[in-house]
Amino acid sequence: MHDKTVSELARDLAEGKVSSVELTRHFLNRIQQEDSRYNSFITLCEEQALADAEAADQLRARGEATPWTGIPFAHKDIFCTDGIRTTCGSRMLENFVPPYNATVTDNFRQAGAVCLGKTNMDEFAMGSSNESSYFGAVTNPWGENRVPGGSSGGSAAAVAARLVPAATATDTGGSIRQPAALCGITGLKPTYGRVSRYGMIAFASSLDQGGTMARTAEDNALMLNVMAGFDPKDSTSIDRPVPDYTASLNQPLQGLRIGLPKEYFSDQLDPAMAAQIQAAVKEYEKLGATVKDISLPNANLAIAAYYVIAPAEASANLSRFDGVRYGYRCDNPKDLMDLYTRTRAEGFGAEVKRRILVGSYALSAGYYDAYYRKAQQVRRLIQQDFINAFKEVDLIMSPTSPSPAFVRGEKTTDPVTMYLEDIFTIAVNLAGLPAMSVPAGFVNGLPVGLQIIGDYFAEARLLNAAHQFQQVTDWHLRSPV
Ligand code: GLN
Repeated sequence: MHDKTVSELARDLAEGKVSSVELTRHFLNRIQQEDSRYNSFITLCEEQALADAEAADQLRARGEATPWTGIPFAHKDIFCTDGIRTTCGSRMLENFVPPYNATVTDNFRQAGAVCLGKTNMDEFAMGSSNESSYFGAVTNPWGENRVPGGSSGGSAAAVAARLVPAATATDTGGSIRQPAALCGITGLKPTYGRVSRYGMIAFASSLDQGGTMARTAEDNALMLNVMAGFDPKDSTSIDRPVPDYTASLNQPLQGLRIGLPKEYFSDQLDPAMAAQIQAAVKEYEKLGATVKDISLPNANLAIAAYYVIAPAEASANLSRFDGVRYGYRCDNPKDLMDLYTRTRAEGFGAEVKRRILVGSYALSAGYYDAYYRKAQQVRRLIQQDFINAFKEVDLIMSPTSPSPAFVRGEKTTDPVTMYLEDIFTIAVNLAGLPAMSVPAGFVNGLPVGLQIIGDYFAEARLLNAAHQFQQVTDWHLRSPV
């Protein structure tokens, strides 16, 4: 049962082969039995899930079911869930129970989906390995001592280990695509503004975007059908019609123009990784696509710009965690200043503090022009590179990450090597574009992801390209369990 995709489970539910209560029990049992190995969940909501499953079965009996009615899934623990604790991977929010739902949470509730729990993540979504979570590291199902990637590592590991068929995730600099690649699943980061950020705990507001994780492109399309749309509660949400993302999955790729950025295929790229990506591109040629080399001349500046802009925004967003309104509060503060400083010193982990320090520094008087303004100018150049490229090609392809899943502890002592994990993903966030990671082979027994980048609002085209690839390859069907 747990090997089935969302679309297969939906069919089984529709045909009466299984009930939502049975499905929900099955997946909850699996999580209870298996997740001690992965630590992919922070909170399970058994009672609520079983009640929702019963309600879903009743809805179906009345003939009112829609594609998601009764389907179990999980939320990254960054999406606020009314009455269910939402930690964002931090001690600061260890006991925070939101009094409201994120728009994404509401969307899935209205669709009748059954949330089984909240998945582990790097603290405040800062990280590429899930080692910065206050609730402990997550293990990649493909290797006992391997990281699942981050920050959405709990969602990626849970989907790969067949603990849930799908999970929500967020991507500020690569946090959907990189863990999807490292865990051998399919993930989509939509165009900035396509999915509401309301109730999604903020890290870097001009970059954060909610998205999808599942094993197939088709299931990602089903998820995006639920998640995408205008939200008046999010001032950066974009009012634009939402297509049915499953409708164009089967379009032929004849004539599709693919660009390969030469900056992403340098000599430094591991030859084994490069070979897998090239083989994937060959499959696209067989499907009728044409391929050409392109250039993104400012791509090498993306990491530097991101590590000024993202920490700057984080330092402002995280100032709300002061021990006064909600979240962790230190014991017996002497005075107000002691309350602020000890609450923050005790409530935040090392990586979060590092970002707050960098961000506050970059925004301080005298440095603002030298760092923050400069970084925003570089961001515009990076965006322009993509705008130019999309005049010549329909999609851009590259590896998702520079290497497969690394060993836990390997990169924790040097933040800069950790930051380089996102070397192929970060420019996409700076430009606000949509992109996917699709399973495309293995290196040393570990999954490799193909990154596919599209023009603004080209999610349907991305999903179509990924789906067609998955009709002629079986990388996405390989299972670590
Ligand atoms: N790894 C990047 C960081 O640490 C991106 C994280 C993300 O996309 N949330 O900031």
